[in-house]
This record gives sequence, C-alpha cells and structure tokens, in this order.
Amino acid sequence: MRGALFIGDPNSIDYLTSLLDRLGINNNVLFSNIEMKTYPQTIDKVYIIPEVMGTATLTSMIDILRIHDVSIIVGDTSSWVTSYIPYLAGLLSGEYIGFIDDIYRDEQGFVIKKTIFTGELIVKYRVRETPIFLTINPSKVEGNLNKEAKEAIYLSESSPFYKILTEKEKEKDKIDIQYADVIVSVGRGFKNIKDLELAEELSNIVGGVVGCSRPIATDLKWLPEERWIGLSGKKVEPRLYIAIGISGQPQHLAGIRRAKKILAINIDPEAPIFQHSDYCVVADLYDILPLLIRKLKEQGVTRS
Ligand SMILES: Cc1cc2nc3c(=O)[nH]c(=O)nc-3n(C[C@H](O)[C@H](O)[C@H](O)COP(=O)(O)OP(=O)(O)OC[C@H]3O[C@@H](n4cnc5c(N)ncnc54)[C@H](O)[C@@H]3O)c2cc1C
Repeated sequence: MRGALFIGDPNSIDYLTSLLDRLGINNNVLFSNIEMKTYPQTIDKVYIIPEVMGTATLTSMIDILRIHDVSIIVGDTSSWVTSYIPYLAGLLSGEYIGFIDDIYRDEQGFVIKKTIFTGELIVKYRVRETPIFLTINPSKVEGNLNKEAKEAIYLSESSPFYKILTEKEKEKDKIDIQYADVIVSVGRGFKNIKDLELAEELSNIVGGVVGCSRPIATDLKWLPEERWIGLSGKKVEPRLYIAIGISGQPQHLAGIRRAKKILAINIDPEAPIFQHSDYCVVADLYDILPLLIRKLKEQGVTRS
C-alpha cells in the first residue's frame, strides 16, 4: 500500500499517525519544521526544514513527493500547513479537502467525514483519485504508538530539496493560540487598539494568550492574522475561552466549538454569544475589565 506524507508540527503528529495507523498505511514520510527525539514507527523518513519560507518550502515538498509514492498528503491545521497544502494540491492538480474530521476505509476505498455550515451538517466524501490532499482538525484522540529514534534529514540550501527562489521578510507571531490553555479573545466591542492592553493584562494574570474575532485582525489589523479565531481562522480548544466584546456570529463560533468552558462579556444581553457560553457577564468591558483585573490582583491570582 502506498504511504502518506504528513505535513505539520510534532504537536499533531501523534494524532495524524495514529489515524493513518488505523487505516493500515505504512511507509510514511514526515515533513516538519521542528525535530523530535523519536517518531512513530509508521514514519520511515523525516525531513526537517530550518524555517517555513515561501517557495523554498513549497519546492521542497514537491521534490519529496517526486521521490516518495504517497496516496495521501495530510496536514494539521496550523496556519503554515493550511496555506501550503491547498497550494500544493493546485500545483499538482490534486483534490484538496480542508479541515476534515475523520478519514476511514470501507470496501470501496477511503471515505472522508467533514463538518460543514459551521457544524450544522456532516458530509461524507468518497475519495476517487489519489493522491488526495487533506488537512485534519486537531482532536483529543491520543496517539498510542511505539516510538523509535530516527535520523532526520535537514533540508538546507545545499540539499537538492531546498531551493530558495525568492526571499521575503515577514514579521512572525511567536504565539500559537491553537494549543493555548486559556484564550482571552477580543472583538469589535473594543474601541481603540490601545484598549487591547486591558485584554493583555487579564491574559497575563490568567496565564493565557490573546486571540480575536476576524475584523480585529483583518479590517482593523490590531492583531496578527494568526490570532483570529473562527471558520476561516484558527480552530481552538482551550480549557477556558474568554470572549470580550464579541457578538458570537456563527463564523466565530465555528472556531470555539471545542473550548471546554466559555465566558462571555458583552454589553448587549441579547448578544448571540451568550447562548453558547457557560458564564455570561452583561457589562461594559470598560467597566468590568479594570474591576476584574484589580480583584484578581488583590486576590493574588497569577499565571500558573
Ligand atoms: C465567509 C466568512 C468567514 C468568516 N470567518 C470568520 C472567522 O473565522 N472568525 C470571525 O470572528 N469572524 C468571521 N467572519 C465575520 C463574522 O461574520 C462577524 O462579522 C465577526 O465575527 C464579528 O466580529 P465581532 O464579534 O468582533 O464584532 P461585532 O459583531 O460587531 O460584535 C461586537 C460586539 O461587541 C459588543 N460591545 C460593543 N461595545 C461593548 C462594550 N463597551 N463592552 C462589551 N461589549 C461591547 C456588542 O454588543 C457586540 O456584540 C466571517 C464572515 C464571513 C462572511
């Protein structure tokens, strides 16, 4: 059976490999930006890129696909992976299905399950042609795989897989909200960029990171795009999601379905976010946040 190419970081690799282990696929190849000490046994070859960098990364992927015969190219939903995989599929004229929930096999071949319309409907696709290009939503399914040390091949400028065609500086966001335990998320209820300091301060106290609704990142550009959460942004699954001045449109809710607890602060008692929240605070954020921050400080609550 042909193998699979995984594209992603070590946080997701156990999940991705246990999934394909379940499908009985071996001879797999990993393409990652971070090296691990050990890898699941189903991975034969590991390629590490020094950094994710435009067309150089893309041409490396294409070269690797030329020498490894794979039927599935599957990645996690980190922002670099979700931007490269569809592009790769386009260049290689393959079919791409993004943000799938599961893949399994029946007597006729692979079947893909995917939630659409912000969680209202589950559809199944039959895979007719391979290779197929996929990204899969992060899940709590634990990989339970034997691991063994494996030598990683570093792709550098001297490697045939690594070609730098163009170089462009991009400011990088060091924070990956996808795996954050607590997220303090800001929406259009904030009137000025400076006011986000309130969210930063709360986030520092509770040991969280600051995320946002789409307009904060795209229209206002107050936060990097990697921080926006929702249907077209990051899907997050924190222990606590604090939504401040966010109305709770379906496109935003699609990104927080897996949050364990949601606390919403909104001035409008009819805001839709309240229907999906565990804790609802009807208040002006400009009143409640300074108060909350002061109380938490008085009680000695600090980042744990
Ligand atoms: C194809 C498509 C994809 C999209 N993808 C996404 C996505 O991935 N993520 C996403 O977030 N959006 C997405 N959107 C946009 C989405 O539809 C909403 O427009 C967006 O989520 C609204 O952001 P918001 O809640 O910050 O702003 P608003 O809807 O304007 O809500 C602001 C909220 O702040 C409250 N408020 C105002 N002042 C205060 C105050 N002083 N104190 C407390 N509360 C206050 C208001 O009552 C209101 O509820 C998408 C849209 C489309 C069409």
